[in-house]
Amino acid sequence: MNIISKNLNQKLKILLVSSEVVPFAKTGGLADVAGSLPKALAAMGHDVRVVMPKYREVGKKDTLCDFPVQVGNRKETAIVRQDTMEAEGGNHVPVYFIDNYHYFDRDGLYLHRDEGERFGFFCRAVLEMLPKVGFQPDIIHCNDWQSGPIPLLLKDQYAKKPYYSKIATLFTVHNLLYQGNWDKGVLSFLGLDEKYFHPEAVEFYGQVSFIKTGLVFSDVINTVSNTYAVEIQTPEYGEGMDGLLRKRAGDLYGIINGLNYEEFNPATDPHIRKNYDFDSIQDKKVNKSALQEELGLAVKDVPLIGLVSRLVDQKGLDLIALVMDELLSADVQLVVLGSGDPHYEQLFKGFQVRYPDKLGVYIGFNAELAQRIYAGSDLFLMPSKFEPCGLGQLISLRYGTIPIVRATGGLKDTINEFDGETGKGNGFSFVPYLPADLLGAIKRGLTLFRNQPEQWGKLVANALREDFSWDRSAKEYIRLYHVALGKHQGIN
Ligand code: ADP
Repeated sequence: MNIISKNLNQKLKILLVSSEVVPFAKTGGLADVAGSLPKALAAMGHDVRVVMPKYREVGKKDTLCDFPVQVGNRKETAIVRQDTMEAEGGNHVPVYFIDNYHYFDRDGLYLHRDEGERFGFFCRAVLEMLPKVGFQPDIIHCNDWQSGPIPLLLKDQYAKKPYYSKIATLFTVHNLLYQGNWDKGVLSFLGLDEKYFHPEAVEFYGQVSFIKTGLVFSDVINTVSNTYAVEIQTPEYGEGMDGLLRKRAGDLYGIINGLNYEEFNPATDPHIRKNYDFDSIQDKKVNKSALQEELGLAVKDVPLIGLVSRLVDQKGLDLIALVMDELLSADVQLVVLGSGDPHYEQLFKGFQVRYPDKLGVYIGFNAELAQRIYAGSDLFLMPSKFEPCGLGQLISLRYGTIPIVRATGGLKDTINEFDGETGKGNGFSFVPYLPADLLGAIKRGLTLFRNQPEQWGKLVANALREDFSWDRSAKEYIRLYHVALGKHQGIN
């Protein structure tokens, strides 16, 4: 670590590879991270650039160059397009888009039939792009399965080329559940020999796993909270990768995600009815009434609980379904914004028919309504089965909305149960994944809100005082990049 400490002030050249980046394309938290971490790094003086696919929904971008990429036994053209993201202090983050009409001019980001082939093409195009755009990074920061093959491609096909030989890799797992496991044939699209198709390399239960490839071949691995980094080394949370992760435990770190405090700021948010901050927190109520109005609920001062989530099993929705009747028998309101599994979409629509004046449901993806829910709710529900980091609870804190969470992964690392005696804590949490425990946490929240307004005020103040901006986490990433460089150079 001595060598690392000495070098910490060195300005790095970093390429962040992500399949989604705010503001260009988003389905979940990865996009928020990929859109905000680079800005924080650029503000620290590093030369950071981002690369992502140019999906149809990204829209028109300037063209930089094009070149052929070998995909199996044919060549596909990669067109590099570009844009920039503005960072603090007049810094700009260049963003490269890999375009190919066949692979990316389609509706939707994912779930296509040739997913392994298209992201295989993306990974190869990213590496081929570097000399073409004249960027020789010190580190390539890969994220999730879509960029998992890059560390292996570097080692296998590029290691002998001087342009690439010094590039170190960090692989960040934002969610171990999504693994990118494909038929063996995908190896040929990547130009990789079958010798890699064994359990110590890319093979995972008879398939080629892109996430496993990243986990095995990157210099260093991290995930987005300390607790999740520990949890994924157990069979319960390891999604079949726990053995491998235990083996690489010495190279596995946890860094909690930061939040873009400019984008998520109740004092300037253009999408909410009335802006507010710590000193004008009473104005939060105006946003509550506006939200009630918008979703057709009675405008009155009952506790209002918000839920903004992908509607998938991970998010604890089966647990919510089990407590719904009891919860809505009380004098409360619940607002749900989400999309995903049709089963859960139907479920919430069904409850809405039964509780029209207590439950507001919006099925779909709506970033602006999401901000209004964070601003207008008193409490925010996030009882995840597992949660690598979670941004919903961090956005809630920023808006003075109190999270009710299950203590797992990043939720455990960021939310502490409020203690009326010490006045400490920023939310309500529970551990066993059981309806009674969820209900207990919700009831503690509702009781405090209704019966102890002074204590409630303290709790809201605690939430607003939290600081989960990128500052600290970006510094931790710099440290980790140096660990990866050290490993790559054989120093550590
Ligand atoms: P995940 O990445 O697993 O979906 P996170 O909590 O890390 O979970 O990030 C989710 C992000 O996506 C948050 O910013 C949340 O507000 C946003 N989000 C989720 N569902 C929707 C939706 N239907 N409409 C708008 N924003 C959403």
